Amino acid sequence: MSATKKNTLKLKFDSSRNLAPAPESKSVAKIADRYDLFINGKFEKPSSKKYFDTINPATEEKLSVVAEANAADVNNAVAAARTAYEKQWKKTAPKERAKYIYRIARLIQEHARELAVIETLDGGKPIRESRDFDVPTAANHFFYYAGWADKLDYAFPNRNPQPLGVAGQIIPWNFPLLMAAWKIAPALATGNTVVLKPAETTSLTALKLAEIIQEADLPPGVVNIITGAGTTGAALVNHPDINKIAFTGSTEVGKMIQKAIAGTNKKATLELGGKAANIIFEDAPLDQAVEGIINGIFFNQGHVCCAGSRLLVQESVYKIVLQKLKDRMETLIVGDPMDKNTDIGAINSKQQLDVINKYLKIGQQEGAEMFQINCNIPKKGFFCRPTIFTNVAQSNRIAQEEIFGPVLAIQTFRTEDEAIEKANNTPFGLSAGVWTNKGSKMFNMTSKLKAGVIWANTYNKFDPVSPFGGYKESGFGREGGLHGLGAYLKV
Ligand code: NAD
Repeated sequence: MSATKKNTLKLKFDSSRNLAPAPESKSVAKIADRYDLFINGKFEKPSSKKYFDTINPATEEKLSVVAEANAADVNNAVAAARTAYEKQWKKTAPKERAKYIYRIARLIQEHARELAVIETLDGGKPIRESRDFDVPTAANHFFYYAGWADKLDYAFPNRNPQPLGVAGQIIPWNFPLLMAAWKIAPALATGNTVVLKPAETTSLTALKLAEIIQEADLPPGVVNIITGAGTTGAALVNHPDINKIAFTGSTEVGKMIQKAIAGTNKKATLELGGKAANIIFEDAPLDQAVEGIINGIFFNQGHVCCAGSRLLVQESVYKIVLQKLKDRMETLIVGDPMDKNTDIGAINSKQQLDVINKYLKIGQQEGAEMFQINCNIPKKGFFCRPTIFTNVAQSNRIAQEEIFGPVLAIQTFRTEDEAIEKANNTPFGLSAGVWTNKGSKMFNMTSKLKAGVIWANTYNKFDPVSPFGGYKESGFGREGGLHGLGAYLKV
């Protein structure tokens, strides 16, 4: 039998979907019936007197109600952050700042199980992922930046690094606790105070973090956490006493923020959308590459800014890769995010599911061929089967626009130049992946791809030490690593 024929044989996997349920217990999660705003070290009722529901997207059940901050509440939070900055935090010795940040990291570890359960209940991601990725990585960010707090003069020698003041931080719903850690840890390490607004569908772990911050005895007002939707976010962006805006979210809102702060002295970092290409050469370790594709797009239901939502495969191995991919996809378990067997949990909201379904229709109307795995999905809750599109043209909307769901657009290429041309041909430039066993090809590709992060023979690996950020419509500025400190300093 020829090697090719052998490779195209349909692989037989155990039907892992028949595994007995292994649900994580909800009993560790203490979720209050109502959450107020965390301002000046205390939970305060909103002056708006309004609350909104936060639901479990896997069951559509209400988990709690969360305060909606209006402009007056935003003002109170910014005033608390300003007072804490002027009177205390900027004067606190760096090594003392570090101790608080370490304490927060340790407390995240102590509360890890509860945080993971709440993240999964509120956001829909599989418990395995909240437990093994989101929560430990969030703690790691605090540990990492705690280490920098008293070494800023070494990080920026002879440049007298000084904090900016009060940072307004706005985060999305895909990694709620982790994004809060990405934002808060470097801000505190550099001597800034913070007003953070989580996304309206996933406020709970940020509010649990507020409780942790209280437990860590952080001076009141150094971190304030206010909840609400776009109007609350806009009030924070437009507040005159904010020195820096750190935003992670969609390109559309990022553009609005950039316009809003134009002509002011506010500094900004914008971490926005992406449409990354995973590029597979014929000499790549194909089984590993297929795992990388699966991890790249189906990880976290495709709710990842740097998701490998496009696959570029060298024509000579297209058929083998496609078959291996479909076979592997058939083994994925879609369903209850609280089950430890689940690979793909719930889509974060009905609104996001509608967006994904809209793109599934668009893809078919554009003439692409759709393949979805043959599995049952729960009747209640927001779920989407992992989906791939073949016969995709470069101009198709499913190849150009961010879908933010478990949907992969597949194209082929013949040469390195063609792969680079296609990979770079979108408005975004956040990330990419290259799979080859040739070092020279890897260097050629990585030096020509226009992406902030490029993974080589792997995908979706994160570390607090590595800077992260994009080009073009994926935003500007870097978070993580030494670069992430610079974004909060006058140097
Ligand atoms: P979104 O832009 O709708 O919302 C993000 C945050 O902005 C939320 O907290 C929201 O309430 C707030 N917001 C909405 N309108 C606002 C306004 N006018 N002014 C100020 N704040 C406002 O994004 P989303 O749907 O929550 O998240 C998904 C997007 O985030 C995707 O595009 C994804 O690529 C991007 N993302 C990027 C990164 C990155 O590091 N580049 C990381 C994660 C997510």
